[in-house]
Amino acid sequence: MTITDKSHFDTIIVGAGSSGCLLANRLSANPNHKVLLIEAGGKDDWIWIKIPVGYLFTINNPRTDWCFKTEPDPGLNGRSIHYARGRVLGGSSSINAMIYMRGQESDYQKWIERTGDTIWDWKHSLDTYKSIESYFGGNNQWHGSDGEMRVEQPRVQWPILDSWRMAASEQGIPSIEEFNRGDNEGCAYFHMNQKKGIRWSMSDAFLKPIKHRKNLTIMTNAQVLKVLTKTITNETLNQPKNRERAWASAKLEAYGLKILHKGEQITVTASDQVILAAGAVSSPHLLQVSGIGPVSLINSIGVEPVHDLPGVGENLQDHLQIRTVYKVSNCKTVNTLYKNIFSRMKMVLEYALFRTGPMTMPPSTLGAFAKSDETQTSANLEWHVQPLSLPKFGDPLHPFNAITPSVTNIRPTSRGWIRATSSDPLVYPSILCNYLSTQEDLDVAVAGLKKTRQIMQSKALQPFAPEEMLPGTTIRTDKDLEHAARDLGTTIFHPIGTCAMGKVNSVGIADHPMTVLDSECRVRGISKLRVIDASSMPVITSGNTNAPVMLIAETIAKKILRAN
Ligand SMILES: Cc1cc2nc3c(=O)[nH]c(=O)nc-3n(C[C@H](O)[C@H](O)[C@H](O)COP(=O)(O)OP(=O)(O)OC[C@H]3O[C@@H](n4cnc5c(N)ncnc54)[C@H](O)[C@@H]3O)c2cc1C
Repeated sequence: MTITDKSHFDTIIVGAGSSGCLLANRLSANPNHKVLLIEAGGKDDWIWIKIPVGYLFTINNPRTDWCFKTEPDPGLNGRSIHYARGRVLGGSSSINAMIYMRGQESDYQKWIERTGDTIWDWKHSLDTYKSIESYFGGNNQWHGSDGEMRVEQPRVQWPILDSWRMAASEQGIPSIEEFNRGDNEGCAYFHMNQKKGIRWSMSDAFLKPIKHRKNLTIMTNAQVLKVLTKTITNETLNQPKNRERAWASAKLEAYGLKILHKGEQITVTASDQVILAAGAVSSPHLLQVSGIGPVSLINSIGVEPVHDLPGVGENLQDHLQIRTVYKVSNCKTVNTLYKNIFSRMKMVLEYALFRTGPMTMPPSTLGAFAKSDETQTSANLEWHVQPLSLPKFGDPLHPFNAITPSVTNIRPTSRGWIRATSSDPLVYPSILCNYLSTQEDLDVAVAGLKKTRQIMQSKALQPFAPEEMLPGTTIRTDKDLEHAARDLGTTIFHPIGTCAMGKVNSVGIADHPMTVLDSECRVRGISKLRVIDASSMPVITSGNTNAPVMLIAETIAKKILRAN
């Protein structure tokens, strides 16, 4: 369908990323329900999106990445860092590291505590994960094989990583089969969203199979500029589904969007609802420039305030990875394989013929989870171990053999924000993560670095004569290690929480002023408007965030379908 000014739909979804692809699939299943899916980026048909190692080329590339930058962060010794977010069909799932990680059972208990809703309990969530998954091992107690989200094992092996796994076990981190059973403590090879050595993004899983539905319109290279709202109509008030919790006391309703497409601004309207799935940076930003958010911020950028919601853009949580580097001998790593023209050709040939080898690899294939100290109730550290090293993403690999055991505090207490700086929606928002701004986060960072050293000094790794390059052997005291964490830390690309769900009672009153959404992702006080993406999470999960985003999208899609 060609979109013209005033085109009308039942549901409009902003952002064809991880969540948006699933939502488009589910909400357009009824052929009588007209759905519009709007994506600022282009099609996902570039070869480097599909070949897993292309990860190194899609990040920091405006063809596929928004290329946001953070503010200089005091927690990173004043450094500003690249903040990758996918800008293409599939969103961040088209440029991510493909690691499939559900988090821990206790994460979902926290979501119940924050939202007061048991739809997030582990048993229910496990059933949902199983239902959307196509697991390589078939159906079992933990996995499902009839869903769309393909999950496979890695297709490349590295002796140095096998030894790292043994070294972790020497340090009390046992080798386990997999991470997705509710308690991820241990060491294992990551499972990944791939199909036979090719990236299986959420667009491959949920959008491509249904893109020809007549009632679904997919617009690419179209950026939403504004959410349009008006005084709530009697028709809306008379529909019971528009009087539930966050919408119970609404005086406004969302009725459409202003879009920039091919240099022209057009308006599209929706009768059922508008859903923001633009991700943890862009969903709150879009609300703010539409006048929905903290009123003082909205006034400061010269936008007419529409609805005061102080939590929009606040509560930003992210995982900070501290990338240590160890020079190694007597083994192969990607660094030297890539440098040599013959081994590079062998890699290409192996991939072309068998879809195996280093080209099937996101940087990390091996992972580990452990407690930073015995007072922790479950693992709060995650390692991503990479058989390569580089100064930072986008830079060339080091010319020597080296590995990168990167350690991350997966339950950080530091909080940041996303804040619009201009009324112009095309101007990027200011992003500040405030990494390492609590003593607890600093202590966990230091403990993580010390544990990494213990693992690297274990017997199993001694045949490779590991030599610590970063942080470096001169860094000894806790104060030195804190400083090193600030120097070496960078995002592992998991921003969440910037339009957080919370408790909202039946008459629309939230128990906390920072609550933006009720537990079904309805925006507080604006009927027919939802935010369903990483920004909806109240608390970050203990692991990589793509699978939990899919859990949210599937859970809420079911709720919407039932209400309709
Ligand atoms: C480099 C990288 C590596 C990662 N690695 C992993 C990993 O290995 N495992 C894991 O579990 N997680 C990983 N993540 C995180 C995971 O991919 C995200 O948590 C998840 O994809 C977020 O989904 P989302 O739907 O919230 O947003 P996104 O997938 O980011 O989708 C948002 C979409 O909205 C579009 N959009 C934004 N603004 C507008 C607008 N105004 N108009 C129209 N469209 C708009 C964007 O272009 C994008 O397509 C990684 C992320 C990145 C960036």
